[in-house]
Amino acid sequence: MRSVLPRAVRDLGLELSRLPGIGPKTAQRLALYLLRQPYPIVAKLSDTIKNLHANVRICRTCFSLAEQEECLICADSSRSRSQICIVEDALDVEAIERTEAYQGVYHVLGGVLSPMEGVGPDQLTLQELFNRLQTGVVQELIIALDHTMESEATARAIAEQLRGTDIKITRLARGLPTGGDIEFADALTLTAALKGRGNVR
Ligand SMILES: [Zn+2]
Repeated sequence: MRSVLPRAVRDLGLELSRLPGIGPKTAQRLALYLLRQPYPIVAKLSDTIKNLHANVRICRTCFSLAEQEECLICADSSRSRSQICIVEDALDVEAIERTEAYQGVYHVLGGVLSPMEGVGPDQLTLQELFNRLQTGVVQELIIALDHTMESEATARAIAEQLRGTDIKITRLARGLPTGGDIEFADALTLTAALKGRGNVR
């Protein structure tokens, strides 16, 4: 497509259009908006983006986001190790933490099983989860995945693997909207869902 805009504007527009929910038109508008901002503001945004990879790590225990080898929750000795809450990503941890209704630790799967999209057990941190359970400390797994078919299949796969163990497996109650994202649920809904969680088996 022919454009008379300067190359720097077009380049920024192209990069911004790669973000989710941002189409090419919006991307160009954002590029022009940034151009009109005072230089320090744009420079700060640019530095912040550059620092993202340098200053964020993956927690070696739960695979959530961290600044050190372990995330704040895993490094907190007051959190109960007997409960592990299984979530898809770090934003779900953030959402559940906002409820202040949970004192255990987490395990971030990194997605859910989806053969259609090529996501198998090896793409997730399932093996690492099962390794964590070897210590014998864990008494309950709380499955806090969105209510989708893929999540159900993932929950079943986890339950299947733990057949014959004493570990209780529960999942969040259906206080959450069907097809809804945990990260967007309000604290009240999430608190009710946590309290009303039911047995998977
Ligand atoms: Zn952690």
